[in-house]
Amino acid sequence: MALEFLYRQPVAIRFGVGSIDQLGEAIRSLGASRCLVVCDRFLRTRVEAMQRKIPEIAAIFSDVEENPQLKGVIAATALAREANVDAIVGVGGGSTMDTAKFTAAIARENADALACFKGEMPFPKTRFPMIAVPTTAGTGSEVTQVSVISHGKEKKTINNPVFMPTLAIVDPALTVTVPPRTTMNTGLDAMAHALEGYWSKHHQPISDLCAIEAVRLVLKNLETAYRDGANLAARENMSLAALLGGMSFALPKTAGSHACSYPLSEDYHLPHGEACAFTLDSFVRINADERLETLCHRVGLSGTDELADRIKALKKLAGLKTTLSDLGNVDLDKLARDAAKHPLMGNNPVAMDEAALRNMFEALK
Ligand code: NAD
Repeated sequence: MALEFLYRQPVAIRFGVGSIDQLGEAIRSLGASRCLVVCDRFLRTRVEAMQRKIPEIAAIFSDVEENPQLKGVIAATALAREANVDAIVGVGGGSTMDTAKFTAAIARENADALACFKGEMPFPKTRFPMIAVPTTAGTGSEVTQVSVISHGKEKKTINNPVFMPTLAIVDPALTVTVPPRTTMNTGLDAMAHALEGYWSKHHQPISDLCAIEAVRLVLKNLETAYRDGANLAARENMSLAALLGGMSFALPKTAGSHACSYPLSEDYHLPHGEACAFTLDSFVRINADERLETLCHRVGLSGTDELADRIKALKKLAGLKTTLSDLGNVDLDKLARDAAKHPLMGNNPVAMDEAALRNMFEALK
């Protein structure tokens, strides 16, 4: 079959240790003079230190929660309007960047956040320029048009070009304070993005290359970053892996492991990366084919079994949940049903219905 694809990556990316020092210049280069920085409570002190050096930071919103809620977007939007800003910067993990992306999309025209969330009205045509500054190495949100926001218990992944950051500033030094367990969760999230983008039914050649390199970098550096958080070379490679992981799935989208991660996060409260990793080695075995063997050989592994074993070993090293009994009282029927009906399951290269998913989860007893 003739090869055809459309590749697009509109985010300007500034990568490097110390690149955060160029934030002020970057804000000015967007033509902005008053920006709102979105962060979480943990990062507020660091953002206040930035504010002392960057007069263009007019306001700070620091109430982002993990699994961010729409009410955070609404509060950030109100602050953006009150402070009369003309740009939004998100400094944090995926929760923060996704809140900042949604805020940038609606604040300029003061659109109704809930109506946009529910799809009852389109996102406005104009938005604020937005800079994404990741402080974890995992989600790749800095290069995707995705914002994952919850409203009550409903967690929604909204895919819309309006969420594309204008610029990503990726400074690996910002990640040295990430605690070991979060380092592992987020690092395995990057691995999941790369593998799922690669085996997605909509995979394409440029994304595939990003995926292979991201998997190689994670295998080589995640354990070191986990054991020795101050190792800047490992942190640098993991930040690059996360960025490439984002580019791997941005167009092809993710598949089975991500579909399963939604009920695992909603009903069993696993953090996003841990929820994706929970079934990732199972899907490596389920989706094993010639293409996946090729990826394994290109990253120096003997084959798909070794890849699955390496993922499981990383999870065990950090004490992440790997079995159904680790989850507590599991409603297996509901788990399999919710995973089967998630739209991303349709993207998995091997068809997985409720019965097949039940079998997969049962094998994790
Ligand atoms: P997170 O943003 O929820 O942060 C996890 C924890 O790490 C928080 O307590 C935070 O304070 C802390 N933290 C962040 N940076 C730190 C640092 N430098 N030092 C110490 N602690 C730090 O976690 P995450 O895994 O980065 O993001 C998860 C969210 O991103 C989920 O909501 C997930 O659904 C979403 N996501 C979005 C995309 C996308 O493309 N938009 C992709 C994957 C995941």
